[in-house]
Amino acid sequence: MSFDRSTARCSFCGHPSSEVRRMIAGPGAAYICNECLQLCTEILNEQTPFSEKALELASRPPVVIATPQVREQHPEPTLLKREPTRTITIELEQKQHGMTLMLHQLHYYTDHFELRFLWIRPPLTSGFTFVPRLIFFLTDSTGMQWPGDRGGHLLARPELANGPNHAVYQGNARFQPLPSPDARMLTVRATDPLGQFEEPAPHAWHFDITLFS
Ligand SMILES: [Zn+2]
Repeated sequence: MSFDRSTARCSFCGHPSSEVRRMIAGPGAAYICNECLQLCTEILNEQTPFSEKALELASRPPVVIATPQVREQHPEPTLLKREPTRTITIELEQKQHGMTLMLHQLHYYTDHFELRFLWIRPPLTSGFTFVPRLIFFLTDSTGMQWPGDRGGHLLARPELANGPNHAVYQGNARFQPLPSPDARMLTVRATDPLGQFEEPAPHAWHFDITLFS
């Protein structure tokens, strides 16, 4: 897959390269600007794992990168949020490497769709200056792709955990545009970015969801 780098936006703050001093390109369509790198350095130097700066960074809305023309038509997509036009109940769960991912529902809206999920994992040990994230990669049966969504807002749900060995996060990943009307299947792959440091790296979760039966 190729990306038009002239439309590069920082994956952390959404600024285009014309509005920042330096932009560093990562794999695929991932970028980070000098200001966000500076912020990350400050977070690394903080003593507490879930500092205010770390939480602020983690709770920013996902940056839409591939469709700048759509952004211009809908500068504030969050303001358009209404009741879903369609809800697909999924209720699938999979264990992978001691962690469970539960997909609950797909919500279709007029110009995007959202995936509701729960992520059950061992608690992060103290010392991580990292707010947990999942990275999603979706494809539908017509070949459409939604690469690299970072899972949107993650909400810790300690009341759902059954004991100190589990942490539960509720998430809502948002994708744009909607799947093709002809798509019969949606494949959801998800991975824990921290897992990349493990040997061997864990398999990604893989779910096939039937959109029409
Ligand atoms: Zn930035």
